Amino acid sequence: MSAVARTSRQVVFPTVDELRIESIPVPEPGPDDVLVRIAMVGICATDVHLLAGHIGDPFPLVPGHEFVGEVAAIGDRAAHSRGFGVGDRVAVEMLLPCRSCARCREGRYNLCERDDMATGLPRGRQYGVNIPRSEAPGLWGGYAEYLHAPAEAIVHRLPEGIAWERAVLVEPLAVAHRAIARGRVTTGDRVVVIGPGPVGILIAAAARAAGAGRVVMVGTRAERLALATDFGADATVDARRSEDVAADVRVALGGASADVVIEAAGVATAQQDAVRLVRRGGRVVLAGACGAAVPVTLHADEDLLTREPDILPSFLSAGGFEPAIALLARPEVPFERLVTHRFALDEAAEAFDVIRRRDGGVLKAVLEPGRTASPENTFPEKNQNKENR
Ligand SMILES: [Zn+2]
Ligand SMILES: [Zn+2]
Repeated sequence: MSAVARTSRQVVFPTVDELRIESIPVPEPGPDDVLVRIAMVGICATDVHLLAGHIGDPFPLVPGHEFVGEVAAIGDRAAHSRGFGVGDRVAVEMLLPCRSCARCREGRYNLCERDDMATGLPRGRQYGVNIPRSEAPGLWGGYAEYLHAPAEAIVHRLPEGIAWERAVLVEPLAVAHRAIARGRVTTGDRVVVIGPGPVGILIAAAARAAGAGRVVMVGTRAERLALATDFGADATVDARRSEDVAADVRVALGGASADVVIEAAGVATAQQDAVRLVRRGGRVVLAGACGAAVPVTLHADEDLLTREPDILPSFLSAGGFEPAIALLARPEVPFERLVTHRFALDEAAEAFDVIRRRDGGVLKAVLEPGRTASPENTFPEKNQNKENR
């Protein structure tokens, strides 16, 4: 165990389209606090939208909500109530629920009223998204060496010895579980997922784990569709090559429509496709948007009315961390293959460029705050996990 540093280096978005590396003092944790040393943090499309100013005005912001790490220091009461000790591997949920509002009390803490920015609140309660760095102690984002977890934070212990490149997927996998729960996916269901990005692929894995009878992935990039089959998709449909996607999906489902269609592409046309693929009385989950104003443009046409599907937006990850951690512990799903690019904290700007250009088949890029930049890490055109496991 290395000692806790007095300062934490952070990636800061001071304002729209600005990215800097800065240091901030790390206070001793109070009796109810946990100080987490970040080992790895995923870069999410949400972070790219935040930097571009598409998601509110949370500046100055330390981004990063997909982080895992270890307990660096812990207050007395927190150690007692949480049962953690220094060195334990942990994941912290993105949302700090107030635990007392009506939505929190009914278990839908992703809808915590104290995070409802529509009511004009000056700050929200989501790490790396809407808690500004100016709020003390300023350790509210995962693109950093250290993170502050107060009493209301939901902190989960990770399985002993789990590799960071698996653990780092816990938040997107929890988001996937939320989508599955919203769609009420149950044993034997025919499930279609549209959009084989990291979340779509994780939704396929979560649907498989939830007992889906058949999982079909629809997308446009062959190598991602192939990867989806390694994560539990029984069949895939390449929308670019198919002359009739609805007909091909029906064949892939064994001659039926889908009980549940989960849209994970984040584009308006995919929402409409979802309605065309669902059975009468089925469920359509909208999981692809990331708060960046993707319009919901469902036509109230015959397809929608005669099928009368439930249209279910899915937001954040409430209730998803426990099943996600259980699934990450199962070695048969090759989660680490989603982590295609790794960067040091200083290389965050390069990492964003790689993502924006969609270089080198980037799926999930991560930052490793404990790692120092080196020339060969600056241009990671290869999948560094290719030979793993
Ligand atoms: Zn994310
Ligand atoms: Zn609340």
